[in-house]
Amino acid sequence: MERIMHRCKKCGRETPEEVLKDNWWICPGCGGYFRMSARERIRLTVDEGSFRELDPAMAGGNPLSFPDYGEKLEKAREASGERDAVVTGYGKIGRRRCAFFVMDAGFMMGSMGTVVGEKITRVFEYATENDLPVIGFTCSGGARMQEGVLSLMQMAKISAACRWHSNAGLFYMVILTDPTTGGVTASFAMEGDVIAAEPGALIGFAGQRVIEQTTGQTLPEGFQRAEFQLEHGFADMIIGRKKMKETVSTLIDLNTARERPADRRSGGKSGR
Ligand SMILES: [Zn+2]
Repeated sequence: MERIMHRCKKCGRETPEEVLKDNWWICPGCGGYFRMSARERIRLTVDEGSFRELDPAMAGGNPLSFPDYGEKLEKAREASGERDAVVTGYGKIGRRRCAFFVMDAGFMMGSMGTVVGEKITRVFEYATENDLPVIGFTCSGGARMQEGVLSLMQMAKISAACRWHSNAGLFYMVILTDPTTGGVTASFAMEGDVIAAEPGALIGFAGQRVIEQTTGQTLPEGFQRAEFQLEHGFADMIIGRKKMKETVSTLIDLNTARERPADRRSGGKSGR
């Protein structure tokens, strides 16, 4: 059987897939990060055997009859094995219970259409009903242009669900991975109680070239990278992959009120 090789964009080194899978999808040559699928992210982050998926069968059509969109969706489904660009569910991270969403750049660059918007909204609602924190991994080119304004309204819909979750005193942590841009950055990617980023991730609203053409100014080196965003207050912390699970689990622990079994039995809230 032929080995599947992946070439590092930074140093050009080719590495077999099984080696990357055992190394958090980090290049053994230069330490550069490969993009990973939502399922791989879940495998590496969520405690083994604890993952339960929400809305696995939800799939959208072509609501605006956008030319060729139907075929594009079919191709993306075939290539990624996913129905759309996000996987949602609940489980445990370092034995801490949480709900989560993980976006997948392998499906139309993780773009946000109605299915992505609805699934993320529902995971916030599920978490609110079940007193769970939400952990989200973003990875997106932005709103899905083939669904036009229906994509853009997802920003408001998710933000509302996120606010209800927050009003219930529950914790939301988002981890921005490469790339997090457009309408995703302009909404739920920036609404976390803690906003973390992976090293070197591209994080921004409009692309560098668009900004330069619009403003007529040259932008500084490293503009829109995670380290730049940390320095300028858009991210709270940068977490390397090998420390991700441990850090997320500690932050869940620090930001979650202790359960009160007596209150639970009487059907009351846990007194946050
Ligand atoms: Zn490399």
